[in-house]
Amino acid sequence: MRTLKRYAQTWPLNRPFVIARGASTSIDVIRVELHQEGHVGTGESKPTPRYGHSVESVLADIDEVSLEIEQGIDRKALLERLPAGPARNALDCALWSLECALEGTTPTARLGPPVGREIITAHTISIATPEEMAKAARQELAQGARLLKIKLNDEQVVERVRAVREAAPNVRIIIDANEAWAPQNVEDYCRELAALDVEMIEQPLPAGEDAVLAEFDHPLPLCADESCHTRKDVALLSDRYDMINIKLDKSGGLTEALAMADAAHEQGMAIMVGCMLGTSVAMRAALPVAARASIVDLDGPIWLSEDDVPALDYRDGWVRETHDS
Ligand SMILES: [Mg+2]
Repeated sequence: MRTLKRYAQTWPLNRPFVIARGASTSIDVIRVELHQEGHVGTGESKPTPRYGHSVESVLADIDEVSLEIEQGIDRKALLERLPAGPARNALDCALWSLECALEGTTPTARLGPPVGREIITAHTISIATPEEMAKAARQELAQGARLLKIKLNDEQVVERVRAVREAAPNVRIIIDANEAWAPQNVEDYCRELAALDVEMIEQPLPAGEDAVLAEFDHPLPLCADESCHTRKDVALLSDRYDMINIKLDKSGGLTEALAMADAAHEQGMAIMVGCMLGTSVAMRAALPVAARASIVDLDGPIWLSEDDVPALDYRDGWVRETHDS
């Protein structure tokens, strides 16, 4: 017999997280625990208002299938039963975790990366004045960051990136505009940021208003985030984007995320793995995607005042799972 528990948790951030859509000082996550034969499978997801989700709606979505989950439906059946989103993510990751625990293994032992493998993760710089962002970049470098992800809106785009580039002349830089730019500016911004040795730009235009990206040669790779949720989106985006950002909260779990990675590679697109912020429980679940990605952005726990235990090991710009984590 399998028993399901689900509950919400609030985790305070150690500093405000500011992106084009707004600022936050804490995060609410949903936890699912599946208990069976003395083993526990755990999943964590984060409701995102951008996609119409709240703590209440995600808990209600989980309750809708809780009986079927307790009666033993598998991950494949779950894909048909719930739409992509945080409820299915927490359940799918808990099923992966339980399935592996019952076999005496873990999802990362089965799917990679090997325990101890150091994976470079982006460290995020929130939106602030150019001077404040340069200062934040210097602080991240002092912590060992090797890859900075600069959050931008549609103001002071080049000034902000130039300030960070001057503060961090040798570090890898990627940009996330979170849908904030206007179509008429996008080509110029891409050219100017490529000249500042930016490695990639995530979601410059609003999802659904990004057709113009197919109309010019990209001077640097463009990555679909808000435009890309599941594998059915991938082929439709291949003329507009060079990469996709896979997040388990969008794909509705690891099962669909792995299928998206395969679909992107079939289209000749690179993959990035990202997160909605969260504890090491959510980041660990995404590590198998990180093993297949060329850019990894799993810095959620770095933003928390306190992480869940056992925590992943974050230091010197990388993240890794240890035997103790
Ligand atoms: Mg993004």
